[in-house]
Amino acid sequence: MAGQMDKRDGHTHTHFCYHGSGDHAELYVQNAIAQGFRTYSITEHPPLPEALTSRIPNGQALIDELAMPMKRLGEYLDMAESLREQYKDSIRLMAGLEVDYIPGMEQWTKGMLDECAGRLEDSLLSVHYLPGKGGWRCVDYTAEDFKEGLVDYYGSAERVYEAYYEAVEQSIDADLGLYKPKRVGHLTLIHKFKDAAAPADPDCCNDAILRILDKVQAKGMELDVNLAGLYQPACREVYPPEWILREAVKRGIPLVYGSDSHNPGHVGRGYDVYEQLMHKLHGERA
Ligand SMILES: [Zn+2]
Ligand SMILES: [Zn+2]
Repeated sequence: MAGQMDKRDGHTHTHFCYHGSGDHAELYVQNAIAQGFRTYSITEHPPLPEALTSRIPNGQALIDELAMPMKRLGEYLDMAESLREQYKDSIRLMAGLEVDYIPGMEQWTKGMLDECAGRLEDSLLSVHYLPGKGGWRCVDYTAEDFKEGLVDYYGSAERVYEAYYEAVEQSIDADLGLYKPKRVGHLTLIHKFKDAAAPADPDCCNDAILRILDKVQAKGMELDVNLAGLYQPACREVYPPEWILREAVKRGIPLVYGSDSHNPGHVGRGYDVYEQLMHKLHGERA
């Protein structure tokens, strides 16, 4: 059964990510080939708008490591395309981005995507930022920052979850132009610190999540089955967890494994877990 699936990693980072290990993307690709991956998407964080970075209160060190500057975007795409050519006999590489959906900055994002016109083959659309205390806050920075910058600001973890899923829903509705990514990145990223700052009602957003899945289906979009959450100590579940994947399968939404590697050793991480999940969920449907 495993051999019938196109072994694919649809979510990976590179040396253009300043919060990763710094290892060259080529080392990630070589690890993917060694593990028998047939398809692999290079999906780096793109540059961020000044309107966002100027209002992140955590300090310059964090801001500097969030994303590449605009002047490096062309160099990044050149790098991905040259690897694609170099390794074309061993693996199908696709150049892409993990695009941020930033509420209210749709025009800027559309402009950035238009700049890449025709060069993006496979991209993700993720929510990493929400308005919070003192400006914009990363939802996935640290548990302390999550509590201080978001939970205290919104009043409870439940309210933070609601704001997050509202942004995810907007991201699916948003007009980001011709090059809008097709795949929703780590749908439940907001669960990253769930054991450190749990919502009183863990099912608080189930209705919103089902509504999001309906929209993903209606728009012909896909879901990133992101294994990174399984290795986060305060999360220990796949983004998104099994019940959501079951609902996605019911709706015929395409699911794509993503390691979300930030170092070469993480390529393919949890692929066995992903395969078991897919066999189980598709088996239930058979
Ligand atoms: Zn992400
Ligand atoms: Zn990522």
